[in-house]
Amino acid sequence: MRHISIKWRMTLWFTVVMVTISALVLVFVMLMNRNSVTRPPEAQVVYMVQRNADDLEFDHGNWDFSDVEFYGHGVYTEIYDEDGRLLGGAGPAAVTEQMPFSDEGLRTVTGSDGGRYYVYDRALNVGGATVWVRGTIDSAARESVMDVIVPLAWALLPGLVVVSALGGWLISSLSFKPMEKVIAAAESISGGDDLSKRIGLPRGKSEINRLAGAFDDMFDRLERSFKAETQFTSDASHELRTPVTVILAECDTLERTRPTAEDYQEGVGVIRRQAQQMSRLIGQLLHITRLEQGTQKTYMERADLSALAEAVCEQQRLIAPAGTELTLDAPDPVEVQADVLLMTRVLNNLIANAFRYGKDGGHVSVTVRRENGWAVLAVRDDGIGIAPEQQERIWQRFYQVDSARSGGEGTGLGLYMVRQIARLHGGTAEVDSAPGQGSTFTVRIPAHRK
Ligand code: ADP
Repeated sequence: MRHISIKWRMTLWFTVVMVTISALVLVFVMLMNRNSVTRPPEAQVVYMVQRNADDLEFDHGNWDFSDVEFYGHGVYTEIYDEDGRLLGGAGPAAVTEQMPFSDEGLRTVTGSDGGRYYVYDRALNVGGATVWVRGTIDSAARESVMDVIVPLAWALLPGLVVVSALGGWLISSLSFKPMEKVIAAAESISGGDDLSKRIGLPRGKSEINRLAGAFDDMFDRLERSFKAETQFTSDASHELRTPVTVILAECDTLERTRPTAEDYQEGVGVIRRQAQQMSRLIGQLLHITRLEQGTQKTYMERADLSALAEAVCEQQRLIAPAGTELTLDAPDPVEVQADVLLMTRVLNNLIANAFRYGKDGGHVSVTVRRENGWAVLAVRDDGIGIAPEQQERIWQRFYQVDSARSGGEGTGLGLYMVRQIARLHGGTAEVDSAPGQGSTFTVRIPAHRK
């Protein structure tokens, strides 16, 4: 059964059901036929004559035949007066012999068609006049509806089975036709490396159109994320290659020339700085990868963002550039459900950027407040600011407006990570900046309901 396609299974099912129903109907019809009490013709003719005799009425010297059934249940009824004149009805065409009337019960006559007929007479005395009621029936007549139904059932039911099987097959093959397209597209994508292939069925309400639509959306996302992955790998390699190149060049120089002790010192300094940069880069890449792959477990706990900001600011003041002032405005506790380690990283990143891109002797302010159910964290500096066209790009991986400005310490990954962390908490990260005047970075995450 496993290798039979759904199409054929459905057709098979239709057929089996129809065959079962037909068989049941046929068995039922045949049982009915056997059990149905069909009166033999001898009894039928007597019965009808009696019935018609009872229905005869003589009223004010006139016969009323309106209730008489002149032909019914195979019986021909005739009514004669005592002189043998026909008053109503007609016998079967094959019986032309005029038999004398007799009260002696059932008689047999042979018709011109060679068939045997039963004749039954009954005299009736009404209002002083005598009438004869004569019934005639073909001895072969067997009155039964089943005589019609049984052959009809035999003829129609097998036809019905064939029609329903064909219909089932047709409907299922038409419905599954688009499915073939889905399968072909999915197979060619999974088999080859053409991620740009799509099923391309028109969007519609039918199950298969919806499935195809969902597949296409999935392929879109797959293609995008695959491209992003490729881009990320290539960017990361590129970023790592720069320090490696510098280190190798420095080693080359030291080997080729006859360096003095001072040259050595300087060379080692360069190598160390480049290695530190690589280490920073690798560290951040690891963080990001863990964050995105979900391998880094987040510990969401109830915490006070104001208290967290205060602790981070205290530490950051120790490493603030000389002359730069760091102030905190977080008067009220703001409860959040957050991963404290990740939120600390957000604060550290934003403050480090504010120091790095702030002006000498400038002012960096951190504020924490509650606003419409959100916990809002803002880090403001009065430094170089960011041009409007750069403001969206700074959130991209490895994007740096001016790498020289970061003193070789920037990786272009900090803000990307800030936004990822904000999103992980169900929040956002935005920037508001004017070149030459400074920038405000704002992170919003849902505040804990009080
Ligand atoms: P980086 O390691 O280079 O600081 P980020 O992702 O933290 O990487 O920042 C990306 C870029 O955004 C930076 O290179 C810098 O050009 C710009 N930027 C970040 N913060 C500020 C700020 N406070 N003022 C001006 N420019 C900023």
